[in-house]
Amino acid sequence: MNNRKMKEMNHECDACFNKAVDVRTEIFSYPSENENNAIRKIILYRCEQHLDTNVHEMRKLASIKRESKK
Ligand SMILES: [Zn+2]
Repeated sequence: MNNRKMKEMNHECDACFNKAVDVRTEIFSYPSENENNAIRKIILYRCEQHLDTNVHEMRKLASIKRESKK
């Protein structure tokens, strides 16, 4: 049995309820009226399904997920 010791992750994907297999620090900027071109750093957990999902999409899905948890 090939028991590869990867970083054990107990996080769930930020976009859904699957187990995360990847964690990355993402940097994105968003222009807003209050803050000019604010640069933000966020840590995103992704499951296999969302590995290719971009940071903006992930944030959108994450907020939908938060709403659904209420
Ligand atoms: Zn996911």
